[in-house]
Amino acid sequence: MISRRGALIAGGTGAAVVAGGGVAAYKVATGDKPEPPSPASVNADGKLLWRNWSGIQNAYPAARLAPKDEGELATALKVAQAPIRPVGAGHSFTALAPTDGTLVSLDAMSGIVGWEGDEAIIRTGTRLGALGPLLAQKGRALPNLPDINKQSLGGALGTATHGTGMKIPAMHGDVTGLRLVTPSGKVIDADATRNPEVFQAARVSLGSLGVISQVRMRTSANRRLRRKVWLEPFDEALANAEGRWAQHRNFEFYAVPFTGLAANISHDETDDPALDRGPDQDTEFLLALRGLRNLLGFATPLRKAAAKALLSTAKPETAVDEGWKLLSTERPVRFNEMEFHLPVENQLKALAEVVATIEKERPDVFFPIEVRRIAADDAWLSPFQGGVRGSVAVHAYYRDDFSFLYELIEPIFRRYDGRPHWGKLHTLNGGQLAAIYPRWKDFLAVRQELDPEGRMLNPYLKGLFGLT
Ligand SMILES: Cc1cc2nc3c(=O)[nH]c(=O)nc-3n(C[C@H](O)[C@H](O)[C@H](O)COP(=O)(O)OP(=O)(O)OC[C@H]3O[C@@H](n4cnc5c(N)ncnc54)[C@H](O)[C@@H]3O)c2cc1C
Repeated sequence: MISRRGALIAGGTGAAVVAGGGVAAYKVATGDKPEPPSPASVNADGKLLWRNWSGIQNAYPAARLAPKDEGELATALKVAQAPIRPVGAGHSFTALAPTDGTLVSLDAMSGIVGWEGDEAIIRTGTRLGALGPLLAQKGRALPNLPDINKQSLGGALGTATHGTGMKIPAMHGDVTGLRLVTPSGKVIDADATRNPEVFQAARVSLGSLGVISQVRMRTSANRRLRRKVWLEPFDEALANAEGRWAQHRNFEFYAVPFTGLAANISHDETDDPALDRGPDQDTEFLLALRGLRNLLGFATPLRKAAAKALLSTAKPETAVDEGWKLLSTERPVRFNEMEFHLPVENQLKALAEVVATIEKERPDVFFPIEVRRIAADDAWLSPFQGGVRGSVAVHAYYRDDFSFLYELIEPIFRRYDGRPHWGKLHTLNGGQLAAIYPRWKDFLAVRQELDPEGRMLNPYLKGLFGLT
């Protein structure tokens, strides 16, 4: 049997290891690739490097703005060098933020500025991790949260960031009003009755209409949740998933390729006292899976047997705490990612194909594949517009080649009528997007009206909107 420690050592060093106290030594099959090259921190013009979280997007903006209030923001936008790109925490994988013009951060515009009943008015520079405790002071919480809480609220809304839950929409689904500062410096308040077209377009806008300075959001009571994590054979996870989405407040699972196993995670409301999660097992297991990839990537049956033995040492996890402390976790291991949102009837079929394809073609992949459900909403560029969707997300370790996402995985998602996550890798262009978003043209018309000169558009967005 391979110990978790043995697998971790193999992952860390790439050296031949002694397995499970025995004497069998295996030659490294795949090994860790070297650190990807880093762009210069300053370019020839003396401009500082901007880079996204995973490291695949970078830019040297001519100017960087961090306005302290709406007035300063509006004045600055009028004269800012194009392309003007709002940026949050830089956690998107697609080239939404890069610009050689002006990068606008709302880091200095954060916090809750008021309440209308149970709806909070929140500045969009607020990081999700900072918002949890602010809302909790009032006994409130955001109904749902994504896997991590490092994002800014504006950035999360900009790409339709979501968590999981059959009855819980993506974060923008709880936005009931917003204030948009256009590139000409005009301030527009929009909701279902005031400027309703701007509201429908701006709830998910990829930062292409201007900068959203604040939003009004529904909140829910800050309840404690019980989190459960448990492993089971992948086939059983597939068979049980629908029932679990119907049963739990939040449910998701991870298919672990080359193991035949899946990890389930549920969250449900409880009045039970808090119960600590204990040390982070997720990262340790992820590194162990990388170790097995490095060690036994050349031999799938051996790798499967070793992974099963390794994962059988995992204990089911139970924790109880307020939702904002449990729903998001730390992701210290960097990766690149593709996620598509599929009609629910196609989700598990697409997943099964993705897993089979990876196991046949790509022994270098070790990241678990994430599977979630998201309730419908009606924002024009929401991937969840028109019905509940099931998402499938495939990750590649940041040092590894991720071209398989485009070559092998995206065609499966597209065959099953998926819509891409706006912040995650995909190749769809204007014509293809127009075919899967019924309100695409309406969005483009609002964009044209708010920014006729295209000052908010970098080359990536021009391509996406078919404007090149
Ligand atoms: C480790 C990791 C885990 C993740 N987990 C999830 C997950 O569980 N669920 C999920 O759906 N996604 C997830 N993502 C994707 C992530 O939530 C999105 O890419 C999100 O947009 C990143 O937020 P950000 O603050 O970094 O925004 P950025 O990436 O900096 O910007 C995103 C977009 O928002 C625009 N924008 C930013 N601020 C404003 C503003 N004030 N006004 C107008 N536009 C603005 C930008 O111009 C850009 O188009 C994850 C990403 C990583 C790296």
